[in-house]
Amino acid sequence: MFLKSVTAFGFKSFADRTALEFGAGITAVVGPNGSGKSNISDAVRWVLGEQSAKYLRGSKMEDIIFSGTSRRRALGVAEVTLVFDNRDHMLPLDFDEVSITRRLYRSGDSDYAINKKNCRLKDILDLLADTGMGKGAMFLIGQNKIDEILNSRPEDRRSIFEEAAGIARFRMRKKEATRR
Ligand code: ATP
Ligand code: MG
Repeated sequence: MFLKSVTAFGFKSFADRTALEFGAGITAVVGPNGSGKSNISDAVRWVLGEQSAKYLRGSKMEDIIFSGTSRRRALGVAEVTLVFDNRDHMLPLDFDEVSITRRLYRSGDSDYAINKKNCRLKDILDLLADTGMGKGAMFLIGQNKIDEILNSRPEDRRSIFEEAAGIARFRMRKKEATRR
C-alpha cells in the first residue's frame, strides 16, 4: 500500500484545488519556508481522523480552512482526499484503490467518505486500525513527537505497541462490546 495522491481544496494555504501525485518509494517535498510543506502532512493527518487542532498546528479546528489573504477572501469549506494504492489489500476492502475524503464547513458540519461514499469517522478509524495508519500510529512523526514518546506514560506508550503489533482493532471492538 502507498499514498498515491493528496488533493486539497480550501485546506490551509491550498485555496485552489491542489493535486499532488506520489509514486511508490521515497518522495521528498522541498520548498521555501512558509510555502506549505507541513500543510501537506497536516492534510494527511487530518483526513486520517485527527481530532486535535493542536496536532494540526491550530487552536481550533476551523483554523484548517483557508482564512484568506489581503487579495483573496476566506473560504467556507475545506476538503482533502487521499488516494491509496491498495493492490496488496492492506486496507481490508476489496478495492485496488481506496480514497478517503474529509470535509469541514465553517459552520462546524463535517463529512467523511470512503471511495466517495459518505461514512462516519468511525468507519475510517476502523478501516485504518492495525494498518500502521490508525490512531496513535507512528506514520507521521512531528518535530516534537520523539520527546513526547519518550516522556509519555506507559499506558499511552502501550497503544503504540498495540498498533504496531496489529491488535488495536481488537481493543477497539472490545471497548465497543463492553460499552453500555
Ligand atoms: P517551514 O519550512 O518553515 O517548515 P512550510 O513549508 O512547512 O515551512 P507551512 O507551515 O506548511 O510551511 O505553511 C505555512 C503557511 O500556511 C503560512 O504562510 C500560513 O499563513 C499558511 N496557512 C496556514 N493556515 C492557513 C489558513 N487557514 N489559511 C490560509 N493560509 C494558511
Ligand atoms: Mg514546515
